[in-house]
Amino acid sequence: MPQSTQTTASTCCYCGVGCGVLIEHDGEHITGVQGDPAHPANYGRLCSKGSTLHLTGDLAARALHPELRLSKGLARARTDWDSALDHAATVFAETIREHGPDSVAFYISGQLLTEDYYAFNKLARALVGTNNIDSNSRLCMSSAVVGYKRSLGADAPPCSYEDIEQSDCLLIAGSNMAYAHPVLFRRLEAAKASRPDMKIVVVDPRRTDTCELADLHLAILPGTDVALFHGILHILLWEGWIDRTYIDAHTEGFDELKKLARDYTPAAVAEICGISVDSLQACAELIGKAPSFMSLWCMGLNQSSSGSAKNSALINLHLATGQIGKPGAGPFSLTGQPNAMGGRETGSLANLLPGHREAGNAEHRSEVAGYWGVDTLPETTGLTAIELFEAVRVGKVKALWIACTNPAQSLPDQQKIHEALAACPFVVVQEAYATTETCRYADLLLPAAGWGEKEGMVTNSERRLSHVRRAVPAPAEARPDWAITCDFARRLEQHLRPGQPSLFDFAGPAALFEEYKQLTAGRDLDLSGLSHALIDDLGPQQWPFPAGASRGTPRLYADGVFPTASGRARFHADPFRAPQEKREARYPLTLNTGRLRDQWHGMSRTGTVAQLFGHVEEAALNLHPDELRRRCLVSGDLIKVRSRRGSLILPVQADEAVRPGQAFLPMHWGDRFLKGLGTNVLTLPAFDPLSKQPELKHAGVEVEKV
Ligand code: SF4
Repeated sequence: MPQSTQTTASTCCYCGVGCGVLIEHDGEHITGVQGDPAHPANYGRLCSKGSTLHLTGDLAARALHPELRLSKGLARARTDWDSALDHAATVFAETIREHGPDSVAFYISGQLLTEDYYAFNKLARALVGTNNIDSNSRLCMSSAVVGYKRSLGADAPPCSYEDIEQSDCLLIAGSNMAYAHPVLFRRLEAAKASRPDMKIVVVDPRRTDTCELADLHLAILPGTDVALFHGILHILLWEGWIDRTYIDAHTEGFDELKKLARDYTPAAVAEICGISVDSLQACAELIGKAPSFMSLWCMGLNQSSSGSAKNSALINLHLATGQIGKPGAGPFSLTGQPNAMGGRETGSLANLLPGHREAGNAEHRSEVAGYWGVDTLPETTGLTAIELFEAVRVGKVKALWIACTNPAQSLPDQQKIHEALAACPFVVVQEAYATTETCRYADLLLPAAGWGEKEGMVTNSERRLSHVRRAVPAPAEARPDWAITCDFARRLEQHLRPGQPSLFDFAGPAALFEEYKQLTAGRDLDLSGLSHALIDDLGPQQWPFPAGASRGTPRLYADGVFPTASGRARFHADPFRAPQEKREARYPLTLNTGRLRDQWHGMSRTGTVAQLFGHVEEAALNLHPDELRRRCLVSGDLIKVRSRRGSLILPVQADEAVRPGQAFLPMHWGDRFLKGLGTNVLTLPAFDPLSKQPELKHAGVEVEKV
């Protein structure tokens, strides 16, 4: 029986800003949403996506009941939870017995809650005995993870949102922050309005809406960021705008970098980047003379075959100028997904273990195995996203569990991903939405609870944990992700470790968090002082928050000591490497992909809200007017855009924000919205050698009228 209107404080489920929301509901249905004035990420503000969350309850799009098919040629039929999970456990156990633990894999999501992630990690590593567990965060932040770890010693963004407001000079690189992190951008706009002397430089091949706030926009050629950052360093060195005292006291490796930077003269860099020497000089001067300097970045740096080098080259600038560990200063990655940080913390990339540990480190494996009460954890290197789906395609992985993500829309080289999913003998999809492209391939579809229907923790870009709370029951038979995972794990235990006490007897997400947090004690991200109850009492908190602490930690490295073996931060001298796919006569345009303001990922949720199509109604390929003229096209013409991997048919649109020789296509459109396999039929699976993050931002394409 519905009750009168109630309010439940929770957290937005979209981007990594992690805004607090107040869910209005009657105990059964969500009726409204407001920004939470008490939440320190947003102080009551919401963007267009957050403020329409209550309109995303369309049950027609939801997965409501478990559905199973026993053969690929059949349609799925409704089943009950016991039959569904028993069947899954039998298939996984038989596959593991026959082909070994690495013949199964888990592909999970930056939108899961921390407790969901933890349950999946324990399932894969402790019970199944495989490191084949990767996340769509591989597509999002893995280059930033490598950048932080190799330069600063830990995957720990050192700054807070308040630093953005306090900074004198901000460099925003490869981020259309106005669209991708809108509420944080509003905070930046307000700060710039109250302190007009604050300088903002935007580095982006496109003139995005973020550039409207910039004092300087560097429209570099796609993928040339490393050359740009080395070129800025060259000028900082030449002008004496470096902090030699900081370098000597707190860093190592500077001489090697200095040698490399000699070759990145302003003239050479201007040529590589396609910008003027004057604008390069102006950028270096703003950075070199700023009392405090901060950098913000997102997918433009990360989604690249040299993503790790781009991250380290940017962090080099902070170390060389001593601009880290003080107010308004430091490198600060803007996390794409709402809980990509929580995933990294719980070890939800193939190469990680809980508590920012490494799966390849024997001591770390032994610590976690001991804590979990199992003999060992697997040593074999786990497959990362692109490798994993290739292993599925060629038949090495025979049972695949996908949770809360849509690889049949989001991974590059979609033709191969669809082939892999079609060929995989057993695909489980655990999903809130039945409409995703991936659900079509599910042999077993498990309905998951969605936002407002489940409970747990998320960590936002500034290391702040917030409570996501349940306001209403999940529809029909949908269940929270942690509960599905633990229920399946207990059934699999009966096959793999019969008669032994269960590793998965958790009463709820708070119990999962209590077990998980002990694995962070003494680590850089120490959460051992936190609990669901404490966050309910004190509000969202930033890690580290060790046992006995009374508040979180807003800024890292203020003492100049870094979590490396030497205690010093490390410069990296990676030379510039061009994007993998070169421009050539048959594919003369460089395709860039990115976000729209009002859509999220593959649109499974935002695509159910009519008003979110008001900003951009339909997919179109954006080209500079000169490129349209060259091809005798006008806006609205239907074109075929093709890359080496596939093609799409869609309208073209003139856009002066895109430089000649380039093209822009929003990342969101899957084959529900486009003729062809969606945006990522065009993108390529090349990836960074260290982070394994794919190069979703650079593909050679050509366009022709149809
Ligand atoms: Fe949600 Fe991000 Fe918008 Fe905040 S900025 S309301 S977290 S989508």
